[in-house]
Amino acid sequence: MNLENKLSSISKSAKSNIIRELLKVANDPGMISFGGGVPDPETFPREELAQIAKEVIEEEYKFTLQYGTTEGDNELKDAYKELLEKHEGIEGVQYDNMLVTVGSQEALYLIGLVLLDESSYCAVGKPVYLGAVGAFKQRFPKFLEIPLEDDGMNINILEERLTTLSKEGKIDKFKFVYVVPTFQNPAGVTMSLEKRKRLAELADKYDFLIVEDNPYGALRFEGSPIPSIYNLNPERTILLNTFSKILCPGFRIGIIIANENIIRKFSIIKQGVNLCTPTLTQRLAARYLQKHDRIEELKPTLELYRSKKDTMLEALENEFRNIQGVSWTRPEGGLFTWLTFPEEVDTLDMFEEAKKNKVLYVPGEAFYVNEVEKNHMRLSFCLPSHDEIREGVRRLKNVVEVYLNKKTI
Ligand code: PMP
Repeated sequence: MNLENKLSSISKSAKSNIIRELLKVANDPGMISFGGGVPDPETFPREELAQIAKEVIEEEYKFTLQYGTTEGDNELKDAYKELLEKHEGIEGVQYDNMLVTVGSQEALYLIGLVLLDESSYCAVGKPVYLGAVGAFKQRFPKFLEIPLEDDGMNINILEERLTTLSKEGKIDKFKFVYVVPTFQNPAGVTMSLEKRKRLAELADKYDFLIVEDNPYGALRFEGSPIPSIYNLNPERTILLNTFSKILCPGFRIGIIIANENIIRKFSIIKQGVNLCTPTLTQRLAARYLQKHDRIEELKPTLELYRSKKDTMLEALENEFRNIQGVSWTRPEGGLFTWLTFPEEVDTLDMFEEAKKNKVLYVPGEAFYVNEVEKNHMRLSFCLPSHDEIREGVRRLKNVVEVYLNKKTI
């Protein structure tokens, strides 16, 4: 069979996810992995969820084993609204402003389908969450990569790029800016309030939307919360929430919050994707949230993440302070820190050496669209133990030294 000529242009251009390929060895004996960005399974409230699952299947089977509405379970929406009001200060959200999706990843895919054409432009961080780019790329838009700084996207450069598009008469093709403003994946940095305000103002000035992807906002372990961009410009912001990092990713539940006209379009397009989000996990999550303040419950976990982050930053300081040109970010929450090495270090090239030394990271080049930078890596601190973090960073230093020695020979 000639499979090639059966394939669409998108599947011909699609490559397998580099992270997935590289991290296949993460479970090898003795391996210390700073790779995956997944929560600790011990934080999943499995006993109570098992109990609720039995109840909602036996007693609410007419709902939980049936198709649901495309828009999602109103009981879940009610419970989530309460959480948004209490913990994010987001008020006034109605059912029509909400769409329940199969994780935020589906929301990103719907954004591509609803907003992007081949002639469209969108702006993303440099670096950027690769799952978002993977979803948007399916519509072949043009990406503007805007450098990320310690306090979020460089808004001056964004404005320059928008001014240029305006002068070229292409600004009406510019659809949205995609940001993970709080504890960004991969860099762990948070956008300042000042930058959030400027972004919200620019959206009005240049008539574009803001996609505010917020999977990590509730995972703050130090510092003070910063208002969401949605609160600064609710008309133009599409806020993506997920249960993946606060409850469990296996439920595959996300919730889009946006103005009702946008939600209506998303719902119509979602019908063609999967009709509805599974009713069973939606009702399970709703019943759980009705009984528990999940954000309050997460506090011990966050304390654990904070102490592991401290251990990692201390280990980085101990091992790398004498190697010139190495720096890292200092996250106040979330799961990641981002290391930058001197330009001659190619972290993908160095990966084999790391595997030999039994330590894993995610090479930074996975997080760029066109203008690839090779001298970074993402480290996740939430899963390894304190001792493993210290030992892993020691191994990492050895890897870098061996690599640099080989390069100079
Ligand atoms: N956005 C970001 C920034 C993420 O890091 C992730 C998951 N790692 C997602 C979206 C997708 O999350 P999910 O589909 O599990 O909700």
